[in-house]
Order: sequence, then C-alpha cells, then structure tokens
Amino acid sequence: MKITRRGFIQTAGVATAVGIAGVPYIALGAGKKVVVVGGGTGGATAAKYLRIADPSIEVTVIEPNKDYYTCYLSNEVLSGDRSLDSIKFGYEGLKKHGVNVVHDMVTGIDAAAKVVKTAGGQSFSYDRCVVAPGVDLSYGKIEGYSAEVAEKIPHAWKAGPQTALLRSQLEAMKDGGTVVIAAPPNPFRCPPGPYERASQIAMYLQNNKPKSKVIILDPKAKFSKQGLFVGAWKKLYSFGTENALIEWHGQQEEAGVVKVDPGSMTVTTAFGDEIKADVLNLIPPQTAGSVAIGAGLTDEKGWCPINLGTFESKIHAGIHVLGDASDAIGMPKSGYSANSQAKVCAAAIAAMLNGQEPGTPSYVNTCYSIAGKDYAFSVAAVYRLAEDGSKIEAVSSGVTPADATAEQFRRDVAYAHSWFRNITHDIFG
Ligand SMILES: Cc1cc2nc3c(=O)[nH]c(=O)nc-3n(C[C@H](O)[C@H](O)[C@H](O)COP(=O)(O)OP(=O)(O)OC[C@H]3O[C@@H](n4cnc5c(N)ncnc54)[C@H](O)[C@@H]3O)c2cc1C
Repeated sequence: MKITRRGFIQTAGVATAVGIAGVPYIALGAGKKVVVVGGGTGGATAAKYLRIADPSIEVTVIEPNKDYYTCYLSNEVLSGDRSLDSIKFGYEGLKKHGVNVVHDMVTGIDAAAKVVKTAGGQSFSYDRCVVAPGVDLSYGKIEGYSAEVAEKIPHAWKAGPQTALLRSQLEAMKDGGTVVIAAPPNPFRCPPGPYERASQIAMYLQNNKPKSKVIILDPKAKFSKQGLFVGAWKKLYSFGTENALIEWHGQQEEAGVVKVDPGSMTVTTAFGDEIKADVLNLIPPQTAGSVAIGAGLTDEKGWCPINLGTFESKIHAGIHVLGDASDAIGMPKSGYSANSQAKVCAAAIAAMLNGQEPGTPSYVNTCYSIAGKDYAFSVAAVYRLAEDGSKIEAVSSGVTPADATAEQFRRDVAYAHSWFRNITHDIFG
C-alpha cells in the first residue's frame, strides 16, 4: 500500500496520541479539519461560524492567551469610563460550539505538508488553515523603540497590560503635563483609533488635570473622520485656541516621530523637532503578524494578498488569511471588518470542504468613535465583491453628518456600546 504524506501524518498522529513521550502530538481526525491560527476577533469568529456552517468540521483554534482583550472600547479604559475587565473575554463560548481551543503559540506553518507547529512542540495537520494573527508592530521604524522599551513607553495598540500601563501613567501624571501620541502611517489597525484615543484622554484631563494637553504627532496629512473629530474637538476641547486640550500636527510639518529617547522622554520628528512628554504613547508602523510573514504569506508591503471572495492566500493554497493581517482591498482594518470577513471565509471553507462552490459574499463594517461623554459618531458600509474580484466595494454607506444634533451625537454613544455588546457576544458567546 502506498502511504501518502497525509496518510503518514495521520498514522503518526495515532501513534503519538497514545502517548509516546518526546514525540510531538499530531491532531487526529479524518476529512474536514480546520486549524485557526489566532483566537482574536477574526479567528474566533471564523472558528465559531465554521462549526455553525458544518458541525462535522473539526475546528482547532491555537491562541497563546487565555484571555482576549478587545482593542475596541479600550480607549474608554484610558479615560476611566470603562474597566479593563469589561473588555476581557475567554474561550468558554467557543468550546461550547465544539471548537478545540489550544493555548500555545504557532511558530510555523508548513503549507506543503499542511501542518501547523507550535512553541509547545505540538503539530496539527489540517485540510484548510485560517491565519488571523492581527498586526505586528515595527518597533525598528522608530529609532530607540523596541518591545522592551514598550514596557515603559506603551503603544497600547494591542489591548490588555499595555492599556493598563498607559492608564496608570495618565493617572500618575501631574496636572499641566503633556501627553504625546505618535500616530502611525497608513495602513494600520483602526484608522480612527489614535484620534478617538486623543479624545478620550482629553476628556479625562479636562475632568481631572485641566492644565494638561494631548499632542498628536502624525506622519499623515489627513486622517479618518477628520472633519467629525475636529468638529468634536472644537466643541469639547477648545481645539484651535490657546487653551486647546488637543493639538494635531500633521505631515505638512513632517510631524511623524522617527526617534525616541526613553531616558528623557523626548521624541524627535522627521522635521527634527524635539518634544518632551510626561506620558508618551508611541504607535509604530505595522505589518501582518509575524507568523504570517514567517509562513511566507506576505507581499513586499508586509500584508497578505488574498482572494477577496474566499480569503484564500494568493501565495499558499489551502491557507486563508483574514482580519488585519490580510490585504482586504477596500475594507478598513477594523474589528467589525475582521468579524465580517471571518463569516465570509467560514462559509467559503465549509463549501469547499464539501465539494461545493463558495457562495456570493457580502461584507459589512461600522466604526464608532467616542469623542466625549455624550458625543460619538460613526461610519457604516455594506460591501460586495467587485465583478472582476479586484476589490471589495461599498454598495451603500453612511456617516454621521457634521451638523448632527446633540441628541444624534449622544445616541451614537449608546449605539457604540450596544454594538460592542453584540459583536463580543457574536464572537465569544
Ligand atoms: C485603540 C483601538 C481601538 C479600536 N477600536 C475599534 C472599533 O471601535 N471598532 C472596530 O471594529 N475595530 C476597532 N479596532 C480594531 C480591531 O481591534 C482590530 O481590527 C481587530 O482586533 C482585528 O482582528 P484580528 O483577528 O485581525 O486581530 P486580533 O483581534 O488582534 O487577533 C489576533 C490574535 O492572534 C493571536 N496570535 C498572534 N500571533 C499568533 C501566533 N503566532 N500563534 C497563535 N496566535 C497568535 C493574538 O494573540 C491575537 O489574539 C481598534 C483597535 C485599536 C488598537
């Protein structure tokens, strides 16, 4: 009998499953096995919806952390409006859907052998693999910054301990202090995020340390929902006046941060200006998560090219990449995008594993930004795949009007909180 490579892996799995010490475990099962790398917004959604689409698919999520902290609404933790615990989610919900949850770090994906390997020495064979590792932070693009320095000067662009660190620094800061936020260049996770963050921090300062201010140093000439943010900042934080709680310095002034001196808490901009801060929040440029880079799934720009209808990699067949790591042309890198893409991807994989053609995809995204206690705005869109498959295009979209009433802005805060409850239940419930 001819033993195929796959057959060999499964046979090896049978042997090791009965406990041969020192031999890596290889997951068992026949036919329809999907391994999901990363149990964040995109990965967890894909795992759950794969099980809903076809309960005969064996789904394993590999994720190092036992708790997932959402980045969405983490800016409210910075203002003190929300506890860190309220953005923390576990994996019991996924397990109830029959998903195998393995807490380990994926160290390699062998696309030819269809095997995922972990730091803990485990190997998992798959029929299809979903890769959703989010972003990696390119510390090296800011001279003097590194993962170690980030323990003192947080990015807080992955929520959890980093969020807690930045919050504690804001609490410890004296009144009259300066908070500097270094915004990243495009493309990056959550385009309105740095500006919502500045707003939430300004709200905290206004109520607790009114002589202080937030300075945003930005390598970009414009930013997401700029008109709405500037309108909010003028109304709420005296933007553009001598007493402004928020200052924004954009690319016209070469304001992007290129260097940091952690000792003196000073940043240097591309223009050569030096600015000293009491609290520094450096959000570096980003790429797809390193596991995607290591697996050869990225292009020269550092993101993963995909078939936009199925999220299957254009580089490695059988591997699907979604969420922030993917180059989902036409959609922003947001949690709601990742959630929506995961459903499209899960349906496509379920169809493919059952020998069917994937259906016609449609996608959705809404992004709320909470700029003040009773002041939020949103942008929403429904998308379809362009006929030539080259992009995901909006078929219908809407944005909070700049001249919305106070009641409309207030209502968008309630909608934002409701969206959060719904999406986290959808992912982890
Ligand atoms: C401050 C801020 C505010 C935001 N606000 C919003 C908002 O209001 N609305 C919105 O829609 N989006 C928002 N976002 C964006 C949103 O958080 C991301 O777009 C979303 O989390 C992307 O999902 P993902 O699955 O691609 O990545 P993630 O959710 O980051 O999940 C990636 C997972 O992969 C795991 N992982 C990484 N490497 C490995 C490996 N080697 N092995 C195993 N697992 C691995 C990680 O531990 C992580 O759990 C915000 C982001 C920030 C920073």
